[in-house]
Amino acid sequence: METLTENVQDQEGLERRARVFAALSDPNRLRIVELLIDHDEICGKDAAEALGISLSLYSHHAKALRQAGVIVQEKRGQTGYCSLDRELLDEALNVLNRCPYPPENDHRACPGCRDAF
Ligand SMILES: [Zn+2]
Repeated sequence: METLTENVQDQEGLERRARVFAALSDPNRLRIVELLIDHDEICGKDAAEALGISLSLYSHHAKALRQAGVIVQEKRGQTGYCSLDRELLDEALNVLNRCPYPPENDHRACPGCRDAF
């Protein structure tokens, strides 16, 4: 029960991660993030083109990702370049990136754990 209390006390981190997941709960936003994983930065025009959506729709989704802190935008001249806050994404994903079965389970039977044995 001690661990449960500790987790709940990290309210700030919990809300930060919840904002990340809320921002990711849209196919287009998820695609923007997946695109940025492979690129240091990308301008709106190129991103919209890669996704096959209009620039205004891209901007709408990029704004939601920016507000959650998932991406940061830097404006150079007339062009805005987006990049990923990899540290924040890593933090959010790491919390869930482990075997969902309890420790006492036989992990040799888990699809994800099987290879570790
Ligand atoms: Zn497992």
